[in-house]
Amino acid sequence: MAEALMDVKKLSNYIGGKWVEYQGEVTQVKNPANGEVITEVPLSSAETVNEAVETAKRAQKEWALTPAPQRAEVLYEVGNLMKERKERLSQLLTLENGKVIEEARGEVQEGIDMAFYMAGEGRRLFGQTTPAELNNKFAMSVRAPIGVVGIITPWNFPIAIATWKSFPAIVAGNAVVWKPATETPIMAYELAKIFEEAGLPKGVINVVFGSGSTVGDAMVHHDDLRVISFTGSNDTGRNIAAECGRQLKKVSLEMGGKNAVIVMDDADLDLAVEGIIWSAFGTSGQRCTACSRVIVHEDVKETLEERLLVEMEKLTIGDGLDESNKVGPIINEAGMEKIKKYIEIGKEEGAKLLAGGKELTDAGLGNGYYFAPTLFTDATSDMRIAQEEIFGPVVSLIPVENFEEAIEVNNGVTYGLSSSIFTRDVQRVFQAQRDLDTGIVYVNAGTTGAEIHLPFGGTKGTGNGHRDSGVQALDVFTEWKAVYVDYSGKLQRAQIDVE
Ligand code: NAP
Repeated sequence: MAEALMDVKKLSNYIGGKWVEYQGEVTQVKNPANGEVITEVPLSSAETVNEAVETAKRAQKEWALTPAPQRAEVLYEVGNLMKERKERLSQLLTLENGKVIEEARGEVQEGIDMAFYMAGEGRRLFGQTTPAELNNKFAMSVRAPIGVVGIITPWNFPIAIATWKSFPAIVAGNAVVWKPATETPIMAYELAKIFEEAGLPKGVINVVFGSGSTVGDAMVHHDDLRVISFTGSNDTGRNIAAECGRQLKKVSLEMGGKNAVIVMDDADLDLAVEGIIWSAFGTSGQRCTACSRVIVHEDVKETLEERLLVEMEKLTIGDGLDESNKVGPIINEAGMEKIKKYIEIGKEEGAKLLAGGKELTDAGLGNGYYFAPTLFTDATSDMRIAQEEIFGPVVSLIPVENFEEAIEVNNGVTYGLSSSIFTRDVQRVFQAQRDLDTGIVYVNAGTTGAEIHLPFGGTKGTGNGHRDSGVQALDVFTEWKAVYVDYSGKLQRAQIDVE
């Protein structure tokens, strides 16, 4: 299967519109479903980053002068090519990342949606016109490109997140240097090919493969990368932010989550169970928005537990390319070890393990990393399993007495990405959307399912106030410029010559 889908044995960097073979060290890219080697990826040097930035700087000057509607035409073409190749891209995505094919198709579709949405921005990129305080004077604000921007992306959404960042950057007139995660470089290779075929001028996007500690670090330290847009873990993000702060470099961070579904006593429990199963175990819980806490009203706790256990039994686990599977593998051994560690922590803390809690090594699962969907109950909000990101198919039920306590528990974590409430009470719906302290709130749906024309991101420890996707993404990749045009023919002094 891998050979049929993947057409190269070793990936090359894409710099200045050329596929540049890297002569140094490489590492293997493995299918997490079975451990098979799919291809090799360069572990490029810091010098490669310098070359990419130099090329991007030259290309950006001309790109910034290309009218935005023309820049957008390239994105329309990118969207068309992604649409044509949707099935192939989805299969490759499952191959390198492991998520089940249905979800891979959803992720690729997210990228397609983003292409057409951001292409539309080529004819908007709205600024403001506003009255001036003096006669015969015109005032407006416009968005200006920033220059060359760096994007650093994680393995869990290798194409969607890249489109959330690169498409707004490009339509706004910037050039991009992109470092994808070493675990999942194939989506970057495929997207670079699409940019090339769509006619994006050489050097406007550059892909440099390599480790975070070398390539990522070189990008963060590069003086000519004026923006770093990063999605990944909290530890890495904090270090990047500290360095960018030192350089006064704009940095956008999207990091972890500890997302909760609240189930109230008046909830439609069948719907709540569906929402929990989908958002807790989809992508094997390896989503930043995955539900890893269920805050349940004590009156419905037992019924909810029973129904969850019934539905968890039905989850089929295995290679994501098999359409019948609902839960795929864990990305790698380190991911697996982290999950196992948290199972032990949960037990030691006194949470009750109702299902799962173990690695699956059954015959037929090959050399993949599979973990059984896991349910803890009687967890308390202060436990580490209820506070820290596990990034696996593990969910903890926390019983509460009332709505106010549910909101308090939801907000009592350092993260603030996504939350959800199941209730039929319209007053609680509106109180919850006001009081839940997360960047994304769902009512009567699980914690996942963002649409690309809305801002994506979180409060508190999840980010630093910026947003991916939505029109808000343009704020990361543009500077606001205030422009005053005085046509009075004399010097008019603001605040002084006003009568
Ligand atoms: P990670 O280890 O922080 O890696 C993310 C990216 O940063 C990778 O490309 C990585 O490169 C690179 N990197 C690592 N060290 C670096 C350094 N010192 N300087 C610059 N770049 C560096 O995160 P991950 O484990 O791959 O991703 C999972 C995390 O992402 C979870 O915490 C999840 O919640 C979060 N996430 C957040 C969102 C959101 O929008 N809020 C969305 C998806 C995922 P290499 O891996 O190639 O070395």
